[in-house]
Amino acid sequence: MHPMLKPALRRAWRGRGTVQFGVTPAHAVKVGPMDIATGCFLELLDGTRGMPLLYEEARTLDLNARQVDTLVMRLVDAGLIDDVRAGGAPADALRKRADVLERHRPDLASLSVVHPEPGGGMGRLAARRSMRVQVRGAGRVGAAVAAVLSGSGVGRVEVLDGGCAEPGDVAPGGLPASAVGERRDMAARQLVRRSAPGPAPRATAAAAGQGGGEPGLSLIVVAPRDGPSAYLPDPGTAEPWISSGTPHLYAGVIEATGFVGPLVLPGGTACAGCLDLRRRERDPQWPRMLAQWQSGRRSAVQACDLGLATAVAGLAAAHALAFLDGELPMSTGTRWEAALPLLDWRSERIGAHLDCRCGAAGHTEGVRTSGAGTAHDTMAG
Ligand SMILES: [Zn+2]
Repeated sequence: MHPMLKPALRRAWRGRGTVQFGVTPAHAVKVGPMDIATGCFLELLDGTRGMPLLYEEARTLDLNARQVDTLVMRLVDAGLIDDVRAGGAPADALRKRADVLERHRPDLASLSVVHPEPGGGMGRLAARRSMRVQVRGAGRVGAAVAAVLSGSGVGRVEVLDGGCAEPGDVAPGGLPASAVGERRDMAARQLVRRSAPGPAPRATAAAAGQGGGEPGLSLIVVAPRDGPSAYLPDPGTAEPWISSGTPHLYAGVIEATGFVGPLVLPGGTACAGCLDLRRRERDPQWPRMLAQWQSGRRSAVQACDLGLATAVAGLAAAHALAFLDGELPMSTGTRWEAALPLLDWRSERIGAHLDCRCGAAGHTEGVRTSGAGTAHDTMAG
């Protein structure tokens, strides 16, 4: 091990004997008691030294090997130590790509803060490269989600949409003005390529895959140009994803309201069918209105504020990445909504419905779900 204090966390002495790593409550850690010699020893933990060299240099600070081991273990337990050589073969392959890694430096630093174990950040960043994600929709939200995922190191990002790009699709971080008139899917594909930190790592991914076939989808992001089809998602459209067990995340903007979620884990959390059944149960007039909205031949102008669309795209991509990195983000079984002009993000917990064929009702949901807000979600029957 070549231990390195995670450079992402700012270090400050709290009084004489305690060092605080990090600023924000979510990730800050206090370590103490710590004397001056140990404080000096911290300076040696920059990833350039293996343990034997650390023991040797620590002796000049009057620290013996046992003290060094104890201190390093304490820092490892506190999630403060990275190992510049850990993460396995995919991480080693990524380390050889200096240009790609340079682009990812802030992403890697962020992952190192979130994942406590040495090498955890690099391991996850490397794992993203063999993942395949589909984004459905190449409008203001969808295209930007795809670009962010690609830029974040997801190896294969596919974008599905129809028709040709219109001036209203153009967005910073999304489709460029030069794409207007081009097929949306082609323009989005180019955007994904341009956003990637380097050439797609497809050769190695395919070789490692099963029988040379393409890897299964890790996630589908449903971010269509027309907000209603993600806000009032059609259970029929989602059926193949439910039956194949493909996780999917809804996101979009509808009538000056942005939303992210729910992230559906098929059979585990509420799906489009559950959502539909609950709405029908709560509001007897719902089916009648839904039919009118869905049959509306007069296509409404999309009320999609650029700032809100960009925020939704960024948040949706961040939730997607957290999920791909192995977490259950707060959109799991929950929809977050913010409406203009106050933009107060609120969450609505979406309970699984017993009558839904997805089978999520009765299953225990993600460990991250809190008990709050379940009062009105108590299942009938
Ligand atoms: Zn369901």
